Amino acid sequence: MKLKYITFAAAALCAAVSLQAAEKIVAGPKGGRLLDTAPQKAEFFVTKDRKVEVTFYDAALKPVAPANQVIAITAEPASGKTKIELEKTATGFVSTAALPESKEPYRVVVQVKEKPDATPKNFRVDLNLAMCGGCQKAEYACTCGD
Ligand SMILES: [Zn+2]
Repeated sequence: MKLKYITFAAAALCAAVSLQAAEKIVAGPKGGRLLDTAPQKAEFFVTKDRKVEVTFYDAALKPVAPANQVIAITAEPASGKTKIELEKTATGFVSTAALPESKEPYRVVVQVKEKPDATPKNFRVDLNLAMCGGCQKAEYACTCGD
């Protein structure tokens, strides 16, 4: 019985570790979260007025004009799913309105298509705008795991 419990605990621990590895967060130049998109990397960043900013970067992490990417962002607070409207900027997209005020963290799904007819890739961000004391980044972009 005791052995069974230990095995289970070890398995659970392994699962937790591999999950964390899969979701390793890479910080973007603005302090947001870098998304592994193609052909350019994209950074998910929330501005001071709670707007979502998506910035595209070249391999050297210099901001570049978006190519033909299509981005769709959905906020999923407890109050209900909300589509975040975006407008194009010189180096990406910015939301036209602030993210919903709701109890954090809540899920924000960023769907990126390389081009309009490409297969969409979903990135799930647990939105928590509180500052992490460890890495001085917002919790949704925390890289220290604190
Ligand atoms: Zn941190």
